[in-house]
Amino acid sequence: MSGKDKRFRTQLDRRSFLKGVAATGAMATMAAAHPVSAAQSASEEKSTAKSWRDRPDPIDESLISDGGTYDVVVVGGGNAGLVCARAASMKGASVAVIENQKEKSYIRGVGSQCGIVNSKFALSQGAPKIDEADFLREWARRMVIRHNPKRASYFVKNSGKVFDWLVSFVDKEWLANSCHIMSCPPRPDVLLEVSGWKFYFGAATFRGGMGAPTSTTKGKTNTAAVGMSSGTGSASGGPSGASGGGDMPGGVAGGQQGGMPGGAGGAEGGGGMPGEGGAEGGMPDGAGSMQGGGGGMPGSAGGADNGGGAQAGAGGAAGGASGGGGMAGGGGPSSTTEPWPALLKIHQEKAMADGAKWFFQHHAEICDVDSSGAVTGVITKTSDGKYVRFKARKGVALCAGDFSGNREMIIDILDDVRHQAEARGNLKLVRAGGGGGGVTRDGSGIKLGIWAGGHIEIGPHSSINDGDPGAGVWFLQLNHNGERFHDEASGTTLYQPIGSVRVTLYDANWKKAVGMMPPRHMAPDTSTGGDLTQRLSHLDNLKPGPIVKSQGNRMGGMGGSGLPGVSGTACCANSIEELLEYMGCYEGDAKKNALAEIKRYNELCKKGVDEDFGKDPRILKVTTVKDPLLYATVGTFTGGGMFGLGAGMNATTGLDTDAEGRVLDSNFKPIKGLYAAGNNAGGRYVTTYQSPIAGVSIGMAVTEGYMLGEMLASL
Ligand SMILES: Cc1cc2nc3c(=O)[nH]c(=O)nc-3n(C[C@H](O)[C@H](O)[C@H](O)COP(=O)(O)OP(=O)(O)OC[C@H]3O[C@@H](n4cnc5c(N)ncnc54)[C@H](O)[C@@H]3O)c2cc1C
Repeated sequence: MSGKDKRFRTQLDRRSFLKGVAATGAMATMAAAHPVSAAQSASEEKSTAKSWRDRPDPIDESLISDGGTYDVVVVGGGNAGLVCARAASMKGASVAVIENQKEKSYIRGVGSQCGIVNSKFALSQGAPKIDEADFLREWARRMVIRHNPKRASYFVKNSGKVFDWLVSFVDKEWLANSCHIMSCPPRPDVLLEVSGWKFYFGAATFRGGMGAPTSTTKGKTNTAAVGMSSGTGSASGGPSGASGGGDMPGGVAGGQQGGMPGGAGGAEGGGGMPGEGGAEGGMPDGAGSMQGGGGGMPGSAGGADNGGGAQAGAGGAAGGASGGGGMAGGGGPSSTTEPWPALLKIHQEKAMADGAKWFFQHHAEICDVDSSGAVTGVITKTSDGKYVRFKARKGVALCAGDFSGNREMIIDILDDVRHQAEARGNLKLVRAGGGGGGVTRDGSGIKLGIWAGGHIEIGPHSSINDGDPGAGVWFLQLNHNGERFHDEASGTTLYQPIGSVRVTLYDANWKKAVGMMPPRHMAPDTSTGGDLTQRLSHLDNLKPGPIVKSQGNRMGGMGGSGLPGVSGTACCANSIEELLEYMGCYEGDAKKNALAEIKRYNELCKKGVDEDFGKDPRILKVTTVKDPLLYATVGTFTGGGMFGLGAGMNATTGLDTDAEGRVLDSNFKPIKGLYAAGNNAGGRYVTTYQSPIAGVSIGMAVTEGYMLGEMLASL
């Protein structure tokens, strides 16, 4: 660990301790509004830099202009915020949406899968009805009961109805062609319980070539598009045809590829996968950073947040800019043409028709807090540096997304990331960046909540994709020593050197195994129109022979190709010995180990009992490595996260809230006027991200956003 990083941790620990002591005293009155007063902070911090936790100095009142008074001020118009604004305005509230992005390239909702429980739509597509109590028990078990059970229950009870409402405003033909429920109707051989972890159907998956939907008024098609106007200008151009394909829209992969760790290398894994792959060149050395991948994504963190040694590297930044446009520049998940954001656009238009106003290129800086501790509004900073105050009569809804672009917050909040870096003696391994295509948020929503008296949910906290229970690769894996090291079906094991080789081995029967995988995050989608066919054909042209990186046998499972969770470069052979030669990554003892491990694994498969790690016998049966052609994918271990040692696709740790989204103070009492939804809200993914249904992140964001908007309007 460098001196600088050691100092940072020491300061962090000291600050946390002092604040903890202060919090046990007469904190309550105070100033829920100012959990750590400027004076207190100053005395603690004399010789140290300010932490993200410290409320900034007040903005000079003479610089702040009046942005108006609204019933509800929504901070962030993404998945949660847009739906919140729509629900509130639909119920008669006046609404201002503060959005950091540019209107022209506004991405309303990043993603394509919305995980829901028992929507009518899902049931109509053949999804078996989910036993809600069973689902809640499973959620609790996965979270080691550290989550907020009421929040999980709120999602289970409401997500179906919210989703059915969301899609009730688009014409049925568009919906039928642009959305299906992942892996439904279910194949008979699919495993819905893997190594003890249960999975459920209900991921509404938005893909297809139907362009944008036509908005309807509950069944009635509106022929004319609803006009939009906003605080800063008119709406962007009309939608064009949707691009379909994988989980990740094309532009995302481009941005990611270019924007991977700067300097020496780009992304090897074609997008990287949970627990593996990703960055082959340019591994953590402080010289580069994933930050460059942003390519200037609106609402994403800037290089300034990426403190410490991993500053945004020139190579990374340049890569991001040239790597296909990332999210903001062009390709990206288009603001209008991908089906999911296109659906959200309909709701934005309807909200605006109801009077809601979007204020683009306004970055929410801080909440106004009155002397009683109540939140009364938000001060924003415009792209030209002006401050504007938006007052809220009923409440401020924090919906500004995660903090995957803020390295300081990652180190402070995400325990597993910090522990991993500490275990390897180098905090510089931690990088900001996260989400594909540089879609990262700077954590400002959470900061606003903390500065107004809120706190982070009780942990421990982790990054996304580092341990989604049951989301393993299934196939035999060997580490840099040629040793098997985990139950490959359970999930990702973190105990490997970052950047070390990881090999995944499978045989001619691999397609059967892939078709049996449960409908989890990034697993194959076996429904008609899903990605299974594409995944199964990705090795069709591979001939026996040594690994040729330029051959294009990359296996990022994310883009709908290849084996889920496996990235790297593939080769194949007619015998195990030949395969080991072709892989070219093992010599000496490691090679001997690999040979012995493959033989032992095949014996265990034959026995039907994994005496070493307890893998599910049904999975053992379909993952032997004996029938030619034999395959290997050689990748690298990035640290558990998809994109290196960082927050992963998103940080899912949020502010402590009650079930309905009221942000809680240090006495676990609601802070008057302050609410949160989506990734600003906590209590959902404590200990690790999980996906018993794929797409729960968006499913929760829109459910919480809707319910919050409706509730705020009713106050
Ligand atoms: C590439 C990618 C693909 C994904 N695919 C899926 C998927 O298919 N299914 C799934 O469940 N999850 C997916 N996720 C995760 C999912 O996108 C997020 O968890 C989800 O968007 C969270 O919603 P949110 O509303 O909390 O935040 P966001 O959708 O991130 O919205 C936050 C909004 O706030 C704005 N903002 C941020 N800070 C400020 C500020 N200070 N002032 C004003 N505005 C601000 C941002 O510009 C943005 O519009 C994906 C993530 C990525 C990166």
